[in-house]
Amino acid sequence: MSTQWVLKTKGDPLGAVHRFIGAAWQAAGLEALVVPTSAKGQEHVLTDTAGLGEVNPFQPLMLMNTAKIIPEVLKDLKDGRIGVLLRPCEMRALLQIAERGVIQAESLFTLCVDCLGTFPEDELEWRAARKGSKNGLTGEALQFAPQGGISAYRYRAACQMCVSSGATEADVNIGILGLPVRQMVLVDVKNGGLDWMAITDGKADPALTAKREVMLAKLSERHTRTRERVISGLMEVLPADVEALLDQFENCGACQICMDACPICTVEYPRQVKGRYRREDVITWLASCVGCGMCEQSCPKSLPLSIIFTHVKQQLEQALML
Ligand code: SF4
Ligand code: SF4
Ligand code: SF4
Repeated sequence: MSTQWVLKTKGDPLGAVHRFIGAAWQAAGLEALVVPTSAKGQEHVLTDTAGLGEVNPFQPLMLMNTAKIIPEVLKDLKDGRIGVLLRPCEMRALLQIAERGVIQAESLFTLCVDCLGTFPEDELEWRAARKGSKNGLTGEALQFAPQGGISAYRYRAACQMCVSSGATEADVNIGILGLPVRQMVLVDVKNGGLDWMAITDGKADPALTAKREVMLAKLSERHTRTRERVISGLMEVLPADVEALLDQFENCGACQICMDACPICTVEYPRQVKGRYRREDVITWLASCVGCGMCEQSCPKSLPLSIIFTHVKQQLEQALML
């Protein structure tokens, strides 16, 4: 059973979320927190709360799927309880990795944030230059959280088609979508056993929870419509089935950059036989795809991998192979 709590933001939602994560960190007795980075070279692992000020899970930029590094990070952090702060597609990847027995998700303290969507890196740089700072873009994105976000058509294709941009699967899910974030954000707690009353501003009004659920449903419909529209527009050029996708990979030669960027391949790399990927490995990969789009973001041929993989996955589902 989950419980819903509220954080009063007093015009500064990012600051309120920082304070809440700091308080949850102390209450849960974490040794470290793995965080998404919003700039190249920024540290992914914080060992004290002082670094939280630099963490911005709402920045409309995703440089990598943070779940990808968690198995390695956990090898170095064997003692104490570890927290992870993730976006929804990173949380989905973490659960896929845990399903393979590489990590124990239940031993982690998981926090997830609603995601407003992310820009391609060059688009973000261009917008930041016009705005004067990247932080300004976060403020702009958060301003439109009550409407479910802005600039949807400029976001990465994966974000425009995201299967779920709402935080729902972590121990602690921080909700902003559909909410008046300059006044308050929602904290939906599934597990964690902490004194939530002490580290939040009290129980949430059920109307607030309902408002967010309505927005999550709207966004899900919007993303489904986008997926269908894009697939139908590209039908002529998309690989017809998994064999055609294997042909595509054969044409790619030695390049494996999309797999190197993928959080699923980190723990289960598709194998090759005589230069061709094994059909069953690629089917398993696609079945576990969490739709983060990091493959597409890294492809040197700029192939629309988000939609290619979604389409082939749908073909497999229709053929009842998944
Ligand atoms: S794919 Fe979804 S969860 Fe991931 S960054 Fe895009 S909108 Fe956010
Ligand atoms: S295949 Fe692409 S979209 Fe799917 S999980 Fe891997 S990187 Fe993300
Ligand atoms: S990154 Fe692009 S070019 Fe490289 S293997 Fe993947 S699909 Fe082919």
